[in-house]
Amino acid sequence: MSISDEKVAIISTPCQIQAAAKIQKFLDTPIKLKIGLFCMENFSYSYFKEHLKKYNIDYDSIKKFRIEKGHAFITLDDDSITKIPLGELKSVVRKNCHICMDLTSQNADISVGSIGSDDNYSTVIIRNLDAQHIIDDAIKQNYFTSKPLTQKQIGILNKLSQKKKHDNQENIEDHELRSKPVLYTREISDNEILSQNMESNFTDLKDNVIDVGACVLCGACEYLCPDNLIIIDDTKPRKQGKCRDDCHMCFTFCPRTYTPEDLKVDCDDMGNYLNIMTLKSNDNYITQDGGVITTLIKYLLDHDIITKAMVVDKKDDNAWKPYAKLTDDMDEIIKSAGSKYSVCPVFKALGED
Ligand code: SF4
Ligand code: SF4
Ligand code: SF4
Repeated sequence: MSISDEKVAIISTPCQIQAAAKIQKFLDTPIKLKIGLFCMENFSYSYFKEHLKKYNIDYDSIKKFRIEKGHAFITLDDDSITKIPLGELKSVVRKNCHICMDLTSQNADISVGSIGSDDNYSTVIIRNLDAQHIIDDAIKQNYFTSKPLTQKQIGILNKLSQKKKHDNQENIEDHELRSKPVLYTREISDNEILSQNMESNFTDLKDNVIDVGACVLCGACEYLCPDNLIIIDDTKPRKQGKCRDDCHMCFTFCPRTYTPEDLKVDCDDMGNYLNIMTLKSNDNYITQDGGVITTLIKYLLDHDIITKAMVVDKKDDNAWKPYAKLTDDMDEIIKSAGSKYSVCPVFKALGED
């Protein structure tokens, strides 16, 4: 099956879901469902690896990685656990995360995370009717057990969403003084956005996103460049060769450039949603998200709602180095489950199939 015939679910961070939402809005795309993860921040792969040397931790010996109650818990192959305060890891957080306001993937169809939920459950935010049908049917067919969130739990999630925005607001204002204020400028209309985009190309992307530390390394620019001029290494996108005159694709679809009115993510809480609940997987997948995402993908594949899931796995020969792939193989999906805490260009996978 060619990629254009596939029906793909993307499972990713809020920033990458933002790119997927832009692509879905304007282009013919195999992306059919966006499952967004809650995300407070993400680490630079190389800086984090370097930092762990302080604890004599070899990246390749990490078996499990989890963030909870202000600490990172790192379980090694010998089952020993090292606890690192998150405050200490601030220096290895990616620069772009300091100007990010979206905790709960406001542009996803379904958002999933552990904040607010009891042990073995995940918090699930349902943002549109199609997503509601999917979750209702999956519960009915016994894929999940559901439980409502209490007002207190919803309050925790709202409070953390507001905290993320509040903490980063000053950085955003500073960022917009140093570059074209594309990131959170909402005063201009969709028509003005269109005309700004029509005047912009890779040079503008480089000056206003990449070189000022706003790139989220999503890979949308690389995926959409019609002449394959963009290459993403571990740190940032680079261009090789001359752009065609009439192309604006990379600038237009970058999640850190102008965003249409209906895809704004600058509201004060968790964004628009129809329903919020907690779910527990009725399968026995042992993963960081309690198996909810893995079970959701299984339901979507079983019912032909999607044909492939775009998941982020880690390299066998380079542990915790994430890379994205498309798959319908449940063994691979189970193997890739859980957060990686480091980003990778997910859209690359759409171009590789
Ligand atoms: S920019 Fe950073 S904090 Fe924001 S969603 Fe992406 S990875 Fe998470
Ligand atoms: S050809 Fe288009 S998408 Fe490719 S780098 Fe140039 S402006 Fe960007
Ligand atoms: S510059 Fe490219 S890789 Fe970076 S955020 Fe924008 S689209 Fe994604």
